[in-house]
Amino acid sequence: MHTHDTTAFRTPRRRALLRLALGAGAWPALAHASGTVVRPLAEAVPGGVARIDLGPAPERPRASTDDIPLLVVGDPIQWTALVGIALATRPGTRQIRVDGPDGRTRQLAYTVHDKHYAEQHLKVAPRTVDLAPADLARHERERAHQQQVIATFSAVPAGELAMRAPCPGRRSDSFGKRRFFNGQPRNPHSGMDIAAATGTPVAAPLAATVLDTGDYFFNGNTVWLDHGGGLLSMLCHLSRIDVAPGQRLPAGARVGAVGATGRVTGPHLHWTVVLNRASVNPALFLPD
Ligand code: ZN
Repeated sequence: MHTHDTTAFRTPRRRALLRLALGAGAWPALAHASGTVVRPLAEAVPGGVARIDLGPAPERPRASTDDIPLLVVGDPIQWTALVGIALATRPGTRQIRVDGPDGRTRQLAYTVHDKHYAEQHLKVAPRTVDLAPADLARHERERAHQQQVIATFSAVPAGELAMRAPCPGRRSDSFGKRRFFNGQPRNPHSGMDIAAATGTPVAAPLAATVLDTGDYFFNGNTVWLDHGGGLLSMLCHLSRIDVAPGQRLPAGARVGAVGATGRVTGPHLHWTVVLNRASVNPALFLPD
C-alpha cells in the first residue's frame, strides 16, 4: 500500500534509517525496542513524512524547517525529527535546522521524492464551485482562523504516535488526489475519507486536547484535536460534536458522530492529519 522510496537515504548517515524504513515497510509488525510498531512510516514524498536521524543528545534537540518547529521524538540515545511534507512541495533537497542543547546549530539535508497522485473529477452543484460573495467572505474568514489553529505547537506527546482509525468503515485511498470540480482545478484532497453511516461514533485517533470546534462552510461540523508537538487531527462533516475546546481526551474517546454536514455528497468522515502545518497521509500513522 505504501511506496517507500529508499533512494531517499543514500548517504552513510542515513544507512541506519534506511534499515529502519525498510523494516517498517517490509515487516509492518516488526517492533522496536519498546515493543510497539514504529509510526509514522517514513515516506519522503509530498504528503508524506521524513524521519531524520539526529543522533544522541542528553536533551531533546530543537529542530525546525523554515522557522516552523518540528516534532522530535526519541530518547538521549537516539532522537528523530519527523518532518511533515506539504502536498505542494516540489521534489528536491530540503534542509532542517537543529539546535542542540550545547548551542550548536546544524543543517541536515533530506530529499523529497516525486509521487504521482491521481486526478479526481467531480460534478457538484455550481454554487459549490462559484461561491456567492457572502459564502466566499465566510470561507476566507474560516480559512484565516484555520491557519491559526494549524500553527499550534504544544508539548511533545510522551507516548507512541501509532494511531487508530477514528471510526470503522472502508477507507478511501484518495489522499493527495488532484481534484477538479466541474472541470476547475482545486486544492488536492488533504485527508482520508472513511465511509460510514450517519451516527457512527467518531473517536480520538490518539490522546489529544480538543483545540477547536465549529461549523464551517466546506468542512461542516468539525473537531480539531491537538496531539502535541505540532501533530493535529481534523475530523469533519460530523452530525454532532460531543466535546468542547480544552477537553483532554485519551485515545479512543468519543468526539462526535459521522454525518454529512458542510459541502458533501453523502455521509462520511473526513480525517486530516497535520504535522508541522503540513497535511500528511493519515495512513502513515495507522497499522496495516
Ligand atoms: Zn475528504
